[in-house]
Amino acid sequence: MSEVIQIPAPVEHIISQLNSHGYQAYAVGGCVRDSLLGRIPEDWDITTSARPEQVKAVFRRTVDTGIAHGTVTVMEGKTGYEVTTYRIDGKYEDGRHPSQVIFTPSLLEDLRRRDFTINAMAYSKEEGIVDAFGGMKDLESKVIRCVGSPIERFTEDALRILRAVRFSAQLGFEIEKDTYKAIGEIAPNLGRVSKERILTELTKLLLSDHPERIAMVYETGMAPHISRQFAAVAQPLPYISPSLPQKKSLRWAAFLQNEPEEAAVRLLKELKSDNDTINRVRILTRWCRAEILSDKTAVRRTMSQMTPELYDDLILLKESVLREEPEKEQLEEVKRLTAEIRSSRDCLYLKDLAVNGRDLIEAGITPGREVGDALEWLLEEVLKEPGKNRKETLLKLLKTR
Ligand code: ATP
Ligand code: MG
Repeated sequence: MSEVIQIPAPVEHIISQLNSHGYQAYAVGGCVRDSLLGRIPEDWDITTSARPEQVKAVFRRTVDTGIAHGTVTVMEGKTGYEVTTYRIDGKYEDGRHPSQVIFTPSLLEDLRRRDFTINAMAYSKEEGIVDAFGGMKDLESKVIRCVGSPIERFTEDALRILRAVRFSAQLGFEIEKDTYKAIGEIAPNLGRVSKERILTELTKLLLSDHPERIAMVYETGMAPHISRQFAAVAQPLPYISPSLPQKKSLRWAAFLQNEPEEAAVRLLKELKSDNDTINRVRILTRWCRAEILSDKTAVRRTMSQMTPELYDDLILLKESVLREEPEKEQLEEVKRLTAEIRSSRDCLYLKDLAVNGRDLIEAGITPGREVGDALEWLLEEVLKEPGKNRKETLLKLLKTR
């Protein structure tokens, strides 16, 4: 593993500015871990001995993101970098968040409060890697291990037990034995962690290269403390293909593919998911197990039930789920028919029908529900025979109804 990290120029600049004002500063946490692994860090966090007001005095453009926790965002061009003062987390009274934050002049104290050894390393060009807790060794042997006593660290913040599994799934690492054992013991404390934070971790887990490791959430005994519906998901869990695109709704639908639509929706609502994801997963789980016959009418009918984007997701999901050769061949045929339907621009939705409500009222249909029913009926006719989608034809057809 190379110990030389390429720090982006703006991060380098922030660190050297702080240094030139007499403060210590390092890149820290996830960005150091990911760089050492040759992964591209999502963001670069900086830790410094400077107090928030001192950080603000050094840089022209800053945003007060979390002053109480010691975090100031320094703007470099359009990108913001979080600069956080070295701190010790005060007592965790509720097992959720520290009741107070204490600043410290010591980098080591700051690293000690972090969750896992691989997340507790700092780096600067001047000093190289600061690794006080064996993070490098654990990166090399691919291990998730708490900094210090697992029981203590998990008691401070129970979300960490879910983070352990999430990092294991993202990095393909094993969880060290004592850390793993402590997860089971602290699992009941998850009940006090906010559903939003839990959902964020589960989603990251499902979006990872090892989505199947969500099984660990059950094996460790965490599931009953996540939510009632989450605990009720049928076992054994279905295969979740890591080759599915890393799209939130798709991965959740793959996880929930064997659940009734209502159960999937209830689960996501319990975890306070956003409505867009709930609606996508609702439709994907509804249609995932339904066979799409390889004839054009059946394909058009399915397409007409959802947006084109969701339909493409459904096909990907089905592809990832089907195991038997004849079913796979049928799906290939469905894909071929889908392409034909799209290239001939067949009408699939009410909005593409050659008549609208006003046309029908003019043709003598009573305004109100009847108009809607008539439009639906016409759409069904057009799904069977796209050639009928002409105004005259449809109005004539209506008389035969
Ligand atoms: P990612 O950004 O991919 O989620 P990350 O490691 O950067 O991974 P963040 O949640 O961004 O994770 O946190 C940044 C750093 O802050 C972590 O690397 C870790 O050092 C520390 N940290 C974050 N959450 C906790 C926590 N709950 N307990 C202890 N330390 C934490
Ligand atoms: Mg991060």
